[in-house]
Amino acid sequence: MVYTANLGFPRIGSGRELKKATESYWSGDLTEAQLIEEAKGLRAHNWQLQKQSGLDIIPSNDFSLYDQVLDTSVMVGAIPDIYGWNGGPVSLETYFAMARGTRGRAGGDLPALEMTKWFDTNYHYLVPEFTQDQSFALASTKPVDEFLEAQALGIRTRPVLLGPVSYLLLGKTVGAEFDPLALLPSLLPVYAEVLQRLASAGAQWVQLDEPCLALDLGPEAQDALKQAYGALAEASGGLDIMLTSYFGGLGESLETVLDLPVSGLHLDLVRAAEQLDEVLAAAPSELTLSLGVVDGRNVWRSDLETILDRIAPAVKARDTDRLVIAPSCSLLHVPIDLDMEEELDPDLRSWLAFAVQKVEEVTILGRALNEGRDAVADSLEASAQAVKARRSSSKIHDAAVETRLQSVTRDMARRSSEHSIRRERQQRSLNLPAFPTTTIGSFPQTSDIRKARAAHAKGHLSHDDYQAFLRREMEAAVRRQEEIGLDMLVHGEFERNDMVQYFGEQLSGFAFTRHGWVQSFGTRYVRPPVLYGDVSRPQPMTVEMTAYAQSLTDRPVKGMLTGPVTLLQWSFVRDDQSRAETCRQIALALRDEVADLEQAGIRAIQIDEPAVREGLPLRRAAWRAYLDWAVECFRLAASGVSDETQIHTHMCYSEFNDIMDAIAAMDADVISIETARSKMELLEAFTSFRYPNEIGPGVYDIHAPRCPEVQEMTDLLRKASERLDARQIWVNPDCGLKTRSWDEVRPALANMVEAAREVRTHAA
Ligand code: GLN
Ligand code: ZN
Repeated sequence: MVYTANLGFPRIGSGRELKKATESYWSGDLTEAQLIEEAKGLRAHNWQLQKQSGLDIIPSNDFSLYDQVLDTSVMVGAIPDIYGWNGGPVSLETYFAMARGTRGRAGGDLPALEMTKWFDTNYHYLVPEFTQDQSFALASTKPVDEFLEAQALGIRTRPVLLGPVSYLLLGKTVGAEFDPLALLPSLLPVYAEVLQRLASAGAQWVQLDEPCLALDLGPEAQDALKQAYGALAEASGGLDIMLTSYFGGLGESLETVLDLPVSGLHLDLVRAAEQLDEVLAAAPSELTLSLGVVDGRNVWRSDLETILDRIAPAVKARDTDRLVIAPSCSLLHVPIDLDMEEELDPDLRSWLAFAVQKVEEVTILGRALNEGRDAVADSLEASAQAVKARRSSSKIHDAAVETRLQSVTRDMARRSSEHSIRRERQQRSLNLPAFPTTTIGSFPQTSDIRKARAAHAKGHLSHDDYQAFLRREMEAAVRRQEEIGLDMLVHGEFERNDMVQYFGEQLSGFAFTRHGWVQSFGTRYVRPPVLYGDVSRPQPMTVEMTAYAQSLTDRPVKGMLTGPVTLLQWSFVRDDQSRAETCRQIALALRDEVADLEQAGIRAIQIDEPAVREGLPLRRAAWRAYLDWAVECFRLAASGVSDETQIHTHMCYSEFNDIMDAIAAMDADVISIETARSKMELLEAFTSFRYPNEIGPGVYDIHAPRCPEVQEMTDLLRKASERLDARQIWVNPDCGLKTRSWDEVRPALANMVEAAREVRTHAA
């Protein structure tokens, strides 16, 4: 008999209950006991839901009040000294202090742990911190407690733990530089203790997630895996370990992994279908294989018959008692329940599956294998119908987009002249001083603005009244920028809810859910658009507003667009064509917008690409291909303009070194980047590479609620001038100002303008 399993269920609740409860707890409206009760209710609900759908193996400890990596740090007692933990149970207060700091909160001044992206998802985890003399000790029995909690409800679960090797690799070292894997010997006893306690509590299996298996792993990491699983298999108290890989294939780790003394191995067969043959050929017969066939990273309904055909060799070759059917990874990364989306286009809805539906798909596959396809003929038929309908739907396919894509030539992704020539022409048209000043686009989103936008969205504020409101805001912003003395202005982005949603709502091919929330970090959830069809731009999106802002002033107003890679990266995208192809469609739609902006007299256009870096594939071997198409798409969007039109781009992250050549290849006339926090270290990357175009290294850290002094910024600019030609340098904050208030922004920008003036006189 084949088993069915889930690797993790979204924890946030279909009505965002976890967010509400947690934030109420933070604000003092809910007691600790009430928060814990609410969390317990969510867990019980999720377990019961999965049980009722007929799933054999249900996860526990997939729940977290904030983040599963933080939970792991707490479990093993890796709590930095500043949080004042004294060795006993970790209080909720300490837990949330690590998660979000206590700065600006009553009685505290502790920073949060650093946060970073979880592999190539939009989930963020709290980075563990290790000192060289780090010791570990069991400080939380959460995995055992939650196992027992489920057991009390009559549900035997398979607890999930982040595996020790991935856990160490995800951390950072503080105090000294050393290999965190050196800490493995002292970490393993804590893991062993957890496994033993789970075994005593009655667990039969444990799921140990090692997502690092989807990365390029060197010999040290391979050795660490051998060491870790050798030790854990021995000390597990009879517990069976399901070693879980996801987000990619095992690659060069395959041989190592198949030699580990674990009872089971989970494979991501969505991202890496091809590895099945190799694994089948080499896996020992007593190894249980968990086949991750339902896509845990995207929202499409599965093609069940095709999956059954694809895994037929495994079913034939192996003892079916040692086969498990599962989603490719935890369902944390998809929305919870499609049935709540009553307003979604019915066709589109029939093509989708969220977490609840994905669990059902897994159980249908299980029944098809155990009882024969006839037993679930209706479900298989429905799945096949949906796949067929989607494939041929006119809602997806737009012949005009297709034709246009085919007529794309290489030249369309090239500006007509090289930057040195463009530079002169732009200088003539823009007539800017040296060290020109500008901002990244957004100005403070005040509560008035948010209220007006919400009222308009709900139909309480008419289109005309809303437009009039926006015009008044733009006019005020333009005047403020003139008073501050900025050289290149922006319209302020007051109309934008979100830099992706705003464009997605105006492009065809994108749809939006009402309840499709996915955890980004802690209580921050996002609702990514569903990019389901060919993308085109029915009409101009930003031209009227930008042109209006330009009409108010003689200074150049910079148009503001979200780039193709970022629109792609922050959406659920179609799986029936390559990401590159979808991105190219978006690029062409944006190209039209860029042309229309130019036509309307806009002399500078910024195409934001904050997501380029996070789109990098997990394995290096795939980087080149990705960067090639990503750069090409940016250029396709940007290159339809004359030499005189200045193209800007903006990126807000700080690791550029390893993709510098690609960033240069984007050939934007001006790039603004985040540097304030890393004190210009980043510029090293741009200088050692000899970045040829113009750069605005952010001189003002917009994330800090403090006003930068003139001196700080002149220092940074002088540093920049040592490394770059003075003619290359722009002066700007390091990101948009939407989260700040005008009271903060005005003096900070005034100081920034003053700093630019000072370096100008000294440079002259
Ligand atoms: N233009 C956007 C803004 O200023 C850029 C946002 C971003 O970099 N993520 O808000
Ligand atoms: Zn930014």
